[in-house]
Amino acid sequence: MPGFEIFGAEEKAQVMEVLESGVLFRYEFAAQRKGVWKVLEFERAFAAYTGAAHAQAVTSGTAALKVALAALGVGEGDEVITQGFTFVATWEAILDCGAVPVFAEVDLTLNMDPADLEKKITPRTKAIIPVHMMGAQARIEAIKAIADRHGIPVIEDTAQAAGGRLHGRHLGTFGAVGTFSFDAVKTMTTGEGGMCITSDETLWRRMSEYQDHGHDHLPNPGGRGGESRSFVGFNFRMMEIQGAIGLAQLAKLDGIVAAQQKNKAFFREAVSVLPGVQFREILDEAGDSATFLTFFLPDAARTTAVNRVLREAGAGAVRWSENGWHYYPNWEHLLEGKTYCHGGWPFSVGGKRRVVYDPQALPASAAIMERALTYQVPILLPDEQKTKIAAALKKAAAV
Ligand SMILES: *Cc1c(COP(=O)(O)O)cnc(C)c1O
Repeated sequence: MPGFEIFGAEEKAQVMEVLESGVLFRYEFAAQRKGVWKVLEFERAFAAYTGAAHAQAVTSGTAALKVALAALGVGEGDEVITQGFTFVATWEAILDCGAVPVFAEVDLTLNMDPADLEKKITPRTKAIIPVHMMGAQARIEAIKAIADRHGIPVIEDTAQAAGGRLHGRHLGTFGAVGTFSFDAVKTMTTGEGGMCITSDETLWRRMSEYQDHGHDHLPNPGGRGGESRSFVGFNFRMMEIQGAIGLAQLAKLDGIVAAQQKNKAFFREAVSVLPGVQFREILDEAGDSATFLTFFLPDAARTTAVNRVLREAGAGAVRWSENGWHYYPNWEHLLEGKTYCHGGWPFSVGGKRRVVYDPQALPASAAIMERALTYQVPILLPDEQKTKIAAALKKAAAV
């Protein structure tokens, strides 16, 4: 990761077709666009690649979550369960619908713990969003079984796991909707962009209409603007240039994953020199999109000491427990209910907090996260870099 490492002639050629048509917009302009419909083509290619019946392109991974939640009818007074280790976008989208995010623990997969999920379900739970963090599978089969038993839809936040699979089936196709991000740091990128996939035609139609102001997208002799609409929507439309880049990147995705799997094997071997090291539980190695390698050391003090040596040797690992964007206790704006809205929305209604978050509410996650270190696995990994990383790890093994 990420896909920008391998921008090339393919992306440029795709973009040039759009510029030569002169039509940057995904809808309308049929006469001028010379048969170029890049976003539509990208949606069809992405659906075919993942095995979903339908795909809906949008402007970002956050927008994809918002569109999926809106299509499922999630709103004010509802609760949506996600995990305490994810990017802030997951709960931003929930709050933006007016719903309340509820956080479940992660286990050694660093994804949602199904047993804790089950404990957090209430009559108000209207959706469950497990996240396939760092390219690898959540326990999606167990999560889906629990959700089905309670009649609650699952949205898979697959922002970080494009190209990932579980036992041969693409991540994002287990739940009602799978959402993807193509931002600057994701496995495949369109600059900014996102996608929703589903095999439920009704949901797809709702998502398609919602992201385009509610335009009803039925054949309409009156042309654009003459249609009616069934509900209020918003604008999350993807541009043709993004669709074009997406087509070029999607064609490279399996190659990206194969390169990362190879580089991840290098990291795994190099990290194995650390005494007492344990690796993140991966449910299906063959389906791992291999964007990150995460390992655990025996305790927090040892983790700090080892990473200090690694940093000094120029090969520091990411310690997510110290990261302000991906880990529950570090989200002070969520914990303190910070918002520009004078009425306190979405944290407060009528001057009263809807929910108070306790930074210590996820002790099992904390015990795991404080021992975890992560290397991001690049697509391109020059030999000099490998030598440096291996040497740093040998040094750290001796502390
Ligand atoms: C990146 C990311 C998103 C949001 O995607 P954007 O395209 O940046 O809006 C959502 N969820 C997770 C887990 C992410 O990593």
